[in-house]
Amino acid sequence: MSDDYDNSDPPVQLFAKRKKVYQRAVEGIYRRRKWIALRVCLLIYYLAPFIRWDRGPHAPDQAILIDMEGRRAYWFFIEIWPQEVYYLTAILIFAAVMLFFVTALFGRVWCGYFCFQTVWTDLFMWVEKVVQGDRAERMRLDAAPWSLNKLARKVITHTAWIGVSLLTGGAFVLYFNDAPTLLHQLVTGQLGSTVTIFILALTASTYLMAGHAREQVCTYMCPYARFQSGMFDTDTLIVTYDAQRGEPRGKHKKGESWDNRGHCIDCTQCVQVCPTGIDIRNGLQLSCIACGLCIDACDSVMDKLDLPRGLIRYETDRNLRAQPKGAIVTKAPKLRLVRPRTVYYAIVLLLLGAVVIYNLATRVMVELHVVHDRNPLFVTLSDGQVRNGYELNILNKDLQPHRYRVELVGLPDGQLLLRGTGEDEVTEIEAPANDSSRFRAFVQAPKAKANQTDITFKLIPLDGAPAAQHDSVFISGGVR
Ligand code: SF4
Ligand code: SF4
Repeated sequence: MSDDYDNSDPPVQLFAKRKKVYQRAVEGIYRRRKWIALRVCLLIYYLAPFIRWDRGPHAPDQAILIDMEGRRAYWFFIEIWPQEVYYLTAILIFAAVMLFFVTALFGRVWCGYFCFQTVWTDLFMWVEKVVQGDRAERMRLDAAPWSLNKLARKVITHTAWIGVSLLTGGAFVLYFNDAPTLLHQLVTGQLGSTVTIFILALTASTYLMAGHAREQVCTYMCPYARFQSGMFDTDTLIVTYDAQRGEPRGKHKKGESWDNRGHCIDCTQCVQVCPTGIDIRNGLQLSCIACGLCIDACDSVMDKLDLPRGLIRYETDRNLRAQPKGAIVTKAPKLRLVRPRTVYYAIVLLLLGAVVIYNLATRVMVELHVVHDRNPLFVTLSDGQVRNGYELNILNKDLQPHRYRVELVGLPDGQLLLRGTGEDEVTEIEAPANDSSRFRAFVQAPKAKANQTDITFKLIPLDGAPAAQHDSVFISGGVR
């Protein structure tokens, strides 16, 4: 090893211990908007499972329901069967592109105002503040030795958190069951073990994520935080510290001149109110969820100093660069909403939306699927005729039962025998409403020259229902 190798630098630390964030309460326009968003999100979350939607006697009347037992997903007038899972995929892609679109326009507005993690963390922080006091009081309490007062405050906080978590987990399962029935079971202690396990798991995850992990979810766990920079451009709205106006920063005494210095008085209010504990004056960071609370904090400081608001503000990079030197910006930012990136996203959204709407509007309500028996493929009867067996699966997505006659096409000498669910021979079949039904079918015909004949099974409606058909084959030889 070379003698001049310098090993005096300390080893690089790959693990940084978390510094607990003690968020200070703040008042202001963005804080008010966040409270409104929180109330709206919680109201929707807790009340949506109780909205009723009459679908008739053959389907549940819960407007939003993922019925695992019945293998259906319901969203108001839309009903999705397991075979139509591509609708869910399309809806998820639509939601993702919508998120990209909104992010390209307004930055991380979803993260700052509507994300579940943000909403529940805000709620948990509010509980903490009510029980343990604001930032300074909480810091003192944590630093103080254990006492009855400290124990009581901690126990009340965690009990309240667990209560909120239980309500969160309890509400989530309402989306998978009939909400009023489940609520009744919950109150009367008749819940099944599976539902109970789900509630407890969701309670635990809410308590851990909103009570303990908090900003670490946004900084380290959320994949969206990692790739959102790909959606940003110079016209995306971001929370910005106007360094040109704020620097050089420094303490300021009342009556002192503002000449030759910046407007930032280094009070760190913007850092203290930040739920992720960052200093926005260091520039845009991965941990910034664009909640705007630092704007509220700084605006109130500027008000007290009798300086114009907007040292920290929502702004675009383009506007910031175009700002004349020494200018003080107090107006809302000029936004360039129409630009290539937003146009691409809008086109994708429109196309995707049109495809989903078209497919839903032209949705086939009755489907017939025919599966040929694999073993044996055919049997030769004592009179020399050949017989093939089939399974007919009818999916009736309609909310009315339908009656059908089954017709065989493509085999003029063929004879079709149908068996109902009770193994009895039938001439008509009934497809129950909003359900799938299976029937056995046999086709019998004299042995033909060709080993295989293409045939079609047709469902001929007897009550004005939609028709359906499915192609299959009649095999009469050539297969060992
Ligand atoms: S709140 Fe405003 S004045 Fe205070 S440190 Fe932050 S940027 Fe500077
Ligand atoms: S820096 Fe400001 S906008 Fe970003 S997370 Fe902190 S308080 Fe919210």
